[in-house]
Amino acid sequence: MDRTQATQRIQELRETIEEQNYWYYVKDEPKMTDHEYDLLMKELIALEGEFPELLTPDSPSQRVGGTPLDAFEKVQHTTPMLSLGNAFDEQDLRDFDRRVRQAIGTEEPIRYVCELKIDGLAVSLRYENGRFVQGATRGDGTTGEDITQNLKTIRALPLVLKEPYSFEVRGEAYMPRRAFEKLNAIRAEQGEPLFANPRNAAAGSLRQLDPKIAAERSLSIFLYSLVGDDLPVASHSAALHLLEGLGFKVNPERREFTGIEDVITFVQSWTEKRNTLGYDIDGMVIKVDSFAYQEQLGFTAKTPRWAIAYKFPAEEAVTILRDIEVNVGRTGAVTPTAVLDAVSLAGTTVKRASLHNEDIIRGKGIMLGDHVVVKKAGDIIPEVVEVKTNMRTGEEKPYEMPTHCPACGSELVRLDEEVALRCINPKCPAQIREGIIHFVSRNAMNIEGIGERVVTQFHEQGLIHSVADLYYLNREELLALERMGEKSVDNILAAIEKSKENSLERLLFGLGIRFVGEKAAKLLAQRFGTMDELKNAPVNDIVAIHEIGTKIAESVSKYFAMPEVGDTLNRLKDAGVNMEYKGLRPQEVDQDSPFSGKIVVLTGTLEKLTRKEAQEMIEARGGKVSGSVSKKTDFVIAGEEAGSKLEKAEQLGVQVIDEQTFLEWIGEQERQWP
Ligand code: NAD
Repeated sequence: MDRTQATQRIQELRETIEEQNYWYYVKDEPKMTDHEYDLLMKELIALEGEFPELLTPDSPSQRVGGTPLDAFEKVQHTTPMLSLGNAFDEQDLRDFDRRVRQAIGTEEPIRYVCELKIDGLAVSLRYENGRFVQGATRGDGTTGEDITQNLKTIRALPLVLKEPYSFEVRGEAYMPRRAFEKLNAIRAEQGEPLFANPRNAAAGSLRQLDPKIAAERSLSIFLYSLVGDDLPVASHSAALHLLEGLGFKVNPERREFTGIEDVITFVQSWTEKRNTLGYDIDGMVIKVDSFAYQEQLGFTAKTPRWAIAYKFPAEEAVTILRDIEVNVGRTGAVTPTAVLDAVSLAGTTVKRASLHNEDIIRGKGIMLGDHVVVKKAGDIIPEVVEVKTNMRTGEEKPYEMPTHCPACGSELVRLDEEVALRCINPKCPAQIREGIIHFVSRNAMNIEGIGERVVTQFHEQGLIHSVADLYYLNREELLALERMGEKSVDNILAAIEKSKENSLERLLFGLGIRFVGEKAAKLLAQRFGTMDELKNAPVNDIVAIHEIGTKIAESVSKYFAMPEVGDTLNRLKDAGVNMEYKGLRPQEVDQDSPFSGKIVVLTGTLEKLTRKEAQEMIEARGGKVSGSVSKKTDFVIAGEEAGSKLEKAEQLGVQVIDEQTFLEWIGEQERQWP
């Protein structure tokens, strides 16, 4: 790009970014995703780096936030409230660490504090002699808005401190996800516009002139920095500790590390866990711990040099929906899937996204050719969450759901009050194929080497028409197939052979009986022990199982009454597939075991057993393993480096035992452990 082109592009980028800043910071109503915004900003910074003579102090790359609203009293920040530099990958974090060590002039690893980056609204709170006197938004970094009255409505914010300190604390006001969903549900009912996300809802609530509105909105606040000249602490970690002691809410997930590599591991672990919290986080903040080093590093116009924000890979992106495909699942439900222009999302390339059902297509008014927002949170399948109607060109085409099954051509129906359309032809090839894919899947019969692709190939070649056919495949016919070498054929046959040994619950789950999930399959297998017992069991005996309702029981009964089911089961049995439950059954459980009927929590690292082994041992003795400690917990088994669960057990007075004692109680201490 030459200088003239760069000048023009820089101008365009600045205008767009300024416009988006207005919608985001002033109106709390963003018009693009954060990721789209970040990309524009990245491009601007790169161009200004390439053509430094075009960089001006009023460029949005050099300025913090937006202009404060006139409706509020203005507050001048004594210490500016800055933004943070961004890191998008490991390399950016290593570069940050290198810059820090260079500026300090040390080769030694640096001590860092890692915190969650709460996606809310930065606020500054002034305390005088231990009393909360003023609270402000960040505004443009130098001048913020006085929102003291609104902040006072946040219950987590202490109005009086345990000691009469005078200082300024900063933190993030946020709206917990549950409160956000509730608020939007109410707004939808009242026909009011919805908030785009909890961040905007929090900002919109705190920047209201009427404090009653903020009071109704269940906001909370995490504090993450102490500002002032004569602080009684010498490091950021000590400051956070002090704040906690004074009654402030400080995020418990923070950790300290020496050296950047452990920081990276920690950051990665949160990239996967980010959706497990009750509030939104959009990244992690990494700060140099020592105040002396922080002072040495100083600030740029917009950011401190001693901190950086690592942004998680975007979970939302905008792309074009080219087509809608409909797929028939194993229960006959027809689900539409969006076919998209490839887009990068949360670290993967996405070309398809779920549309769930027809109502969603209608409700959102989706047309072919529309720009749509696609979201992928954690392991969840990507889904279309929004249509960008303002990006329509007039070329988009309306979409009609098919009236007939795309696989077998039979008419689709809508059962009772279901939203999904269904194909009710039991011979529909798509349903059969999906049923077999489910049968071989990991949590069912776990037949390794056979996945969706292989099942489809076998099915299309006419080698399998039901799950039982898998056990009658012969080596020659498989070798004759395309892309099938001797080795893969042998592996497939060995995996099929191995699956014959599975315990009954896997087979039951694999058969895909309606409403019978993994848990119900296990309960049924435990109670009846064999397939024959279950098959002949009256509905009443099935309902008698605790946790199994009439819906499941009737479905099981109906399933076994179907003549083709009898055939399939006979063929499976003839092929040598195990039809018995292999675990301990309730009546065989050792009633005298100290774990019988008890709730047990495992924590820390066990030396001789894996968690799973320990869990199985407890369950085989009639105990239940739970993930969290409460008053109902009977024992906690604590291994090495047990953390918060152990603390909680001690607080609640729950009995804690170590691994050795556990093995003694189980009666396994004689066994030779490796
Ligand atoms: P930032 O959000 O990238 O980082 C700085 C902010 O992080 C701080 O001001 C503070 O509020 C917050 N923070 C949360 N937890 C923290 C912690 N533990 N320690 C320190 N700070 C913590 O920077 P920014 O300047 O506030 O906003 C820029 C970002 O806002 C952009 O990257 C973009 O994602 C978003 N934005 C989006 C649009 C849009 O149109 N969608 C427009 C403007 C800005």
